[in-house]
Amino acid sequence: MALRFYNTLTQLVEPFSTLDGKTVRMYTCGPTVYNFVHIGNLRTFTFQDILRRWLRARGYSLNHVMNITDIEDKIIRDAKAAGKPIEEYTAVYTQAFLDDTATLRLERPERVVAATKHIPEMVEAVQQLTERGHTYVSDGSVYYRISTFPGYGKLSHNDFSGIRAGARVDVDEYDKDDARDFVLWKAAKEGEPSWDTAVGPGRPGWHIECSAMAMKYLGDTLDIHTGGVDLTFPHHENEIAQAEGISGKQFVRFWLHAEHLSIDAQKMSKSLGNFYTLRDLLKQGFAPEAIRYLLASVPYRKKLNFTFEGLQAAAHSIDRLRNYELRLKTDKFAEGSNPAMEERTHKAIAAFEEALDDDLNTAEALGAVFEYIRDTNTAMDAGDFLAGNAAGALAFLARFDAVFDVLKPSAKEGGLSDEEVETLIAERTSAKKARNFSRADEIRAELSAKGIVIEDTKEGVRWKRA
Ligand code: AMP
Ligand code: ZN
Repeated sequence: MALRFYNTLTQLVEPFSTLDGKTVRMYTCGPTVYNFVHIGNLRTFTFQDILRRWLRARGYSLNHVMNITDIEDKIIRDAKAAGKPIEEYTAVYTQAFLDDTATLRLERPERVVAATKHIPEMVEAVQQLTERGHTYVSDGSVYYRISTFPGYGKLSHNDFSGIRAGARVDVDEYDKDDARDFVLWKAAKEGEPSWDTAVGPGRPGWHIECSAMAMKYLGDTLDIHTGGVDLTFPHHENEIAQAEGISGKQFVRFWLHAEHLSIDAQKMSKSLGNFYTLRDLLKQGFAPEAIRYLLASVPYRKKLNFTFEGLQAAAHSIDRLRNYELRLKTDKFAEGSNPAMEERTHKAIAAFEEALDDDLNTAEALGAVFEYIRDTNTAMDAGDFLAGNAAGALAFLARFDAVFDVLKPSAKEGGLSDEEVETLIAERTSAKKARNFSRADEIRAELSAKGIVIEDTKEGVRWKRA
């Protein structure tokens, strides 16, 4: 079966296609840069990375845009508390976010764009909504009048007809005619940053940011829009009202939402204080690949409950994968190629691909990999896996790693690169040949101290990172 995704808009699993050509136009809501992101946020960004990689594996190229929300109430509050200008404050956390995503090997979207660099586009979007009769002004702020957009609620499948004016829906503390209405442009306030614009002095609301930037770079209709489930309402519902209110065309064809990462059965969140940042976990000695593996291993529409046992299990799974790769590369198998093993490899690849085609079922994809490893290890022990079968197995591992990207160890701080390890091993081998055993032992100890385990085998020296 072909590649398919669950679409929040239709509540159906649908075959994926692009509107035109082989380039996927995709938008992702990025972070609000007032602090370090936590691993819950990073779960959603990891899902997006797996999505990108699998779309590419299926022959698509990407035009992917992610915003950085660098003007917002919490930013203003925290920058003030830190006594720093907004730009200086957000620059630190924008860089921290980019560094964290790089550490987790998340591919950088084709464009990462900051809200404050797109104020004219947002002002224009507000003006266009006004021309089309979707707005009103109250106390200098501009609001979206939801009653002018009949499709409101179609993404979150909420029926808003029963909500009375005056009931609270959005958390913005601004006066509005109807509880569902939301602010597009916030009137300037004393002590807050503001821009002097054609829609008055002030700053943009959060929702208009995404519609304006998505439409600028990707056009009226996007193929995919992603985010965490908490963004479905009101943020994405509002993005639709804005974009479709301007263009009159469908804004997004496939809406994909990632479930939350929880801890002790509660959503991990800054406001609850129950969070770990990536940096917290790295400080405790966990490898970035283990964290990446854990975040990717649970299908994105299932809740992921974070535990340290889960993280240790992820590290252990990576060890098994690396040991297997090492065995494939270093064992001496008997000559020839066993057709039954070739067949087994094809079956594994098909199962792996089918799992990811099925709305990115990463758990099943990993299941296909480990079942294959178990079967082929047994075949190796029994002498049924032959030298000619190794290339197929390595190609399968490469296909796996093009998506999961966990096989190559991250360089530890102060750690050795692959090349440095090889050089030391070569030096140790010459030292042993020259019967300089004390130097050979010294090198082994140095490698061990830096987390490199070496093993002398009939075929030569094998090494791996502990
Ligand atoms: P924010 O900076 O709060 O806008 O969040 C950035 C992204 O992380 C959004 O897509 C959120 O939906 C997502 N997110 C927030 N908390 C969690 C969580 N506990 N688990 C997974 N994703 C989350
Ligand atoms: Zn957004």
